[in-house]
Amino acid sequence: MPGYRVLKHYETSERESLIAQVVSEVVNSILKIRLPPRNFIQETYIGGSDFKRDEPVLGLYHLNCIYIIRDLPDADLVRVTAHELRHAWQEQNQEYWSSFKLREYDADLFSREFSSYLGHPSGTQIAARLVTAYGMQGRELSPYIKDVLERRL
Ligand SMILES: [Zn+2]
Repeated sequence: MPGYRVLKHYETSERESLIAQVVSEVVNSILKIRLPPRNFIQETYIGGSDFKRDEPVLGLYHLNCIYIIRDLPDADLVRVTAHELRHAWQEQNQEYWSSFKLREYDADLFSREFSSYLGHPSGTQIAARLVTAYGMQGRELSPYIKDVLERRL
């Protein structure tokens, strides 16, 4: 039974946070929800966990908060963020909320559709596609954010 610890703000990677933030804003141009707060988590093996799950998870939507596991490859980070945001949409719209299976099916479908909206970019193309998708909404990312997104760590 894996345990997870919620990372403090200073423990999270700036690049991961920015990708999750930009994904959230692009996703929300489709979903139009009240964006839930985002946290990053890591699996813990020795006590001190904030919550436990029966199965290992990559992400979690719980009590109007999104939790994403740290150090995911970019493509997975995009997919998991979109998946968890869809759960927020389901709750805020009372859709599929009665069935766990339908909820997961719908969130998986949405995150796959979102990846294809971005053009199924490879990990290295993710940042560029996000910058473009953001720009298509008539908004400009600041040069600083672009720089952090495009920097490979
Ligand atoms: Zn899910």
